[in-house]
Amino acid sequence: MIPPYVHEQMAVHGDEETRRNALAALAVDTTVRAERLIADLTARSVAAQATAHRERRVHTADNTAELPGTLVRSEGDPPSEDPAVDEAYDGLGSTFDLMQDVFGRNSLDDAGMPLLGTVHYQKKYNNAAWDGVQMIFGDGDGQYFNRFTAAVDVIGHELAHGITTHESDLLYLYQSGALNEHFSDVIGAMVKQYVAVPRQTAADADWIIGAGLFTSAVNGVGLRSMKAPGTAFDDDVLGKDPQPNHMSRFVHTLDDNGGVHINSGIPNRAFYLAAIGLGGFSWDRAGRIWYAAMRDPELRRLRWIAQFKDFARLTIKHATALYGPAEQSVVADAWQQVGITPEVTRPVGALADAWMLHYSWGCTDPYAQTTLMFHDDGSFTGELSGRWHQQDGTLLLSFDAGSARYAGTLAGDVATGVMSTFDGADGCWRLTRKGATGIVGN
Ligand SMILES: [Zn+2]
Repeated sequence: MIPPYVHEQMAVHGDEETRRNALAALAVDTTVRAERLIADLTARSVAAQATAHRERRVHTADNTAELPGTLVRSEGDPPSEDPAVDEAYDGLGSTFDLMQDVFGRNSLDDAGMPLLGTVHYQKKYNNAAWDGVQMIFGDGDGQYFNRFTAAVDVIGHELAHGITTHESDLLYLYQSGALNEHFSDVIGAMVKQYVAVPRQTAADADWIIGAGLFTSAVNGVGLRSMKAPGTAFDDDVLGKDPQPNHMSRFVHTLDDNGGVHINSGIPNRAFYLAAIGLGGFSWDRAGRIWYAAMRDPELRRLRWIAQFKDFARLTIKHATALYGPAEQSVVADAWQQVGITPEVTRPVGALADAWMLHYSWGCTDPYAQTTLMFHDDGSFTGELSGRWHQQDGTLLLSFDAGSARYAGTLAGDVATGVMSTFDGADGCWRLTRKGATGIVGN
């Protein structure tokens, strides 16, 4: 929830205790992020149930790093009188309700997965996180941060990481990671507007993520602003909100998994503009469009190279499919305003032809050859069949049979790559246009 940048600023500008606490948080966060990456890659999941019902379990770590800790409130139990426990319980329920009522989704995996949370994680831990299996909430240091259960959008945000894992599974790095963060802010903002009494329209909402997390010692209104990225806080100790609000201010960095919490400001503002442009409640149309884009099989195929403009294109596609040309133009215009102009029509023709695939397991076995016929509709056929996607010189092939996927670069009549499987053996491959000269089919 909190990018490393803020902890780093606190480590530099805070007093001795703040500094120690910030460094400890950085160490914990790195561990949690690594665990999430591993959980994503191995698709670890807790036991699922098929019928739709809320199944919440809130634990306490009693200020240790024990997970999940001691179970303190299960579904249907009365309030515990510990505000952190009860806020976590209510926030998990509100997020479940939005998913169920608006999207017809049965929990994070759409198969009734229980919602697990642990409060009082570590001592004065300034963060909340989704570790791939459950939610974790810190108490905050009390000096700069309040307890992290206090903001319902933070709970919605973290749980939405679980939805993403089960849908597109966008890798938590660079632009695909920023889209992952972005979708979590979209769900978080919608949960906040949905549980507000009365419910808030897009025009009435403040679009601040994490309002109430800062103590009065901090000069800021929350962690992020979807309406005006970069303006949520400007503080002597925490630094200034680093989010860009336009593609022209995109931040190139290796920190924060390649700026996942930073550049998410760009699509965040696009969602805000789309929700305002479409009018009414954000979940009525904008939310449904974004949810459909997140579930689009094409996004899953792109999961580790997905770019903002890919996601933009999918939202435009679903705006048209779900509603019509008026909604399509509102959504396209929203992306345009943040500097993203996706190609709405699929680029065709570059590959549509017969090609020869040369491939070798381990790059040491003799190369085998097979002819593939590429079609404009994104499929390829032949002895091996599957789907292809090509963009900015990157070519992705996924096969109908087996788990191997190939990623490489396409230049002219040759595409080459290291075979990028993800569950099987690695190898090398090359693709040459049939009849192209100068290529030895080794
Ligand atoms: Zn997040």
